[in-house]
Amino acid sequence: DASIMDGKTLNAGAVAGVTNIKNPINLAYEVMENSEHVLLAGKGAEEFATQRGLEIVDPSYFYTENRFKSLQKVKEREREKSGNKTAANYDSFIKDSKFGTVGCAALDKNGNLAAGTSTGGMTNKRWNRIGDSPIIGAGTYANNATCAVSSTGWGEFFIRGVVAYDISALMEYKGLSLQEAAAEVIQKKIPKMGGDGGIIAIDHEGNVAMEFNTAGMYRATMNKKAELQIGIYEK
Ligand code: ASP
Repeated sequence: DASIMDGKTLNAGAVAGVTNIKNPINLAYEVMENSEHVLLAGKGAEEFATQRGLEIVDPSYFYTENRFKSLQKVKEREREKSGNKTAANYDSFIKDSKFGTVGCAALDKNGNLAAGTSTGGMTNKRWNRIGDSPIIGAGTYANNATCAVSSTGWGEFFIRGVVAYDISALMEYKGLSLQEAAAEVIQKKIPKMGGDGGIIAIDHEGNVAMEFNTAGMYRATMNKKAELQIGIYEK
């Protein structure tokens, strides 16, 4: 699942449930730039990718030993807890092993914002389950008037909380700063619903927010002087 949004035009593109596109974010970009649609899924999205000349790979290309092992572990733990999959019954092991989204939020020198998100989705998802990552407004949102946001976390809650757009809306309609808006959504609204995760975001002035309510979130920022800051755990 992947999505991208251009904060200047509010144009957006997304793909869900594709299995053989080498770089799904490139396909999301193609959907945005070269189709009249926003979200394409499954076989049709793959056909569109072929037409646009994107690189196609065998799904085995995406295999890694580490992720395979974590899938086996999650399956085992879920079997033990089967029939009891409420927020309270997911132990922290299952939750922490399930996330692995890559997101990006950027501001260019002309004041244009953009955000992109790409993921394999939550580990052990079934039934063509689609998370927040390809949902514009939930997993990704960008608007030059406010901010650019990319989300990671328990997608069902991020869809229901319309997380990325909510942060933008709190800035636009309530006058909150990016940091205040991000904290409101990630530390209050989402936990209150029983969900967890985080966001990375940048506003139209270049202020950055990287808010999460999980134990850690792999993250980094780079400013216009190319100064890099990296974090995993505490803020
Ligand atoms: N948000 C993603 C999903 O629900 C998971 C993640 O962030 O890793 O599919």
